[in-house]
Amino acid sequence: MSARADAAATAAEPARDCPYCPRLAVFRRANREREPAWFNAPVPSFGPREARLLIVGLAPGLKGANRTGRPFTGDYAGDLLYQTLISFGFARGIYGARPDDGLALIDARITNAVRCVPPENKPVTEEIRACNGFLKATLAEMPHLSAILALGRIAHDAVAIALGLTRARVPFAHGAEHRASKRIALFDSYHCSRYNTNTGVLTPEMFRDVFARLRAQLERAA
Ligand code: URA
Repeated sequence: MSARADAAATAAEPARDCPYCPRLAVFRRANREREPAWFNAPVPSFGPREARLLIVGLAPGLKGANRTGRPFTGDYAGDLLYQTLISFGFARGIYGARPDDGLALIDARITNAVRCVPPENKPVTEEIRACNGFLKATLAEMPHLSAILALGRIAHDAVAIALGLTRARVPFAHGAEHRASKRIALFDSYHCSRYNTNTGVLTPEMFRDVFARLRAQLERAA
């Protein structure tokens, strides 16, 4: 992590004009000029800090979370994620793909490993590291955190860095469940992206299976 990112490690949310990733700041400025009505800023975490479950995605999609300002909202991946959250009792309301749809998360929170939209949906290693202080601070501000769901390998690796775990200690695998600490279980899923669901890498059933185990783990820990 850079010295600047270190200095910000106590803040869980980046500033609107966060300068840590020059490439992402340039992209953000261009998006603000092109689409002034869009959110075009680091997308904050969604859901109560008191939640026991934290879901970690990759980064906002250009026309989804970057447009609406809420993680996964308006993104293709959000359709499966929010429906699954509703059906497992982690959300109530109707997901309307907009931040004013009234959807509320229950005992769950959603954040991203990288808070700003990256060109072509691909953050580079430097950016994942530069943003890690915010993830670390997000974990630290959740007093009841007992399960983390990492969506995809990049989110998983970002969580491992934030928790000070080596990849060898917690190797990513879809469906894996790791004991990250005495208090925190780390679950892995393939990312619920359009590409993964369209190619059958991740089916809704596979995703639901992970949530069923997550729910069971939270029941056991209660
Ligand atoms: N939208 C997000 O907010 N995060 C992702 O990982 C994908 C889409």
